[in-house]
Amino acid sequence: MTDRRSLAAGNWKMNGTAAALSELDALIAAHGDTRSELLLCPPHTLVERMARAADGSALGVGGQDCHWEETGAHTGDVSAAMLKDAGATHVILGHSERRADHAETDRMVRDKCDAAWAAGLTAIVCVGETLAERESSNTLQIIRGQIAGSLPDQATGHNLVIAYEPVWAIGTGKVPTTDEIGEVHSDIRSTLERRFGAGVAKSVRILYGGSVKPDNASEIFAVENVDGALVGGASLKAADFGGIVRALDGA
Ligand code: PEP
Repeated sequence: MTDRRSLAAGNWKMNGTAAALSELDALIAAHGDTRSELLLCPPHTLVERMARAADGSALGVGGQDCHWEETGAHTGDVSAAMLKDAGATHVILGHSERRADHAETDRMVRDKCDAAWAAGLTAIVCVGETLAERESSNTLQIIRGQIAGSLPDQATGHNLVIAYEPVWAIGTGKVPTTDEIGEVHSDIRSTLERRFGAGVAKSVRILYGGSVKPDNASEIFAVENVDGALVGGASLKAADFGGIVRALDGA
């Protein structure tokens, strides 16, 4: 047992228009008394509407990315302060799809993290290896490097959540074994301890992400140092996400 509060975070990616907000009512109604923290990260266009709809409920709202600057000539980008203003409390940073599609480097993720913290948002920083990196036994080394490069020095259990997301498990239906998940999560905890000290390391939540579904969630949540999940596809439907929340509450 730990005193870290478990977290179920959904990443809607580039999915959802106003009609999708109907999923919220079912989710909120079914999980009003959850002991886990619930968060959905819709596309930027829905952040404000979702935050209004979820106001006063157990559900929090986050963004999926932010720029490292507060304002300026960055067409198409959104700042952390804008997300906060729209009602977000969290922001996902360094998701592998952004690292791949937008050539985001660890340095950029670190600067975005600084911007998120300056705006008062909790950063959910994603790390994870590709299949080639796992097959060449480089997983831990890659993740240690991503943590070293992507996190500023002022991390706390309040402003930071880490999401371990093997790139090859995202949206593929493939999931590492529970031993593999446990090995990485434990190594992340030790890496955080070396960098930030035992107190911070103990308080930062480490989520697993990559093809989490209601039917595999319980065994993943039983792994030591897994404090919840970052969920893509299965967060789009209240019934699926709700099944994952139930598994987390029972863990
Ligand atoms: C994600 O993109 O963060 C993710 C974990 O996706 P999925 O659950 O669909 O694999």
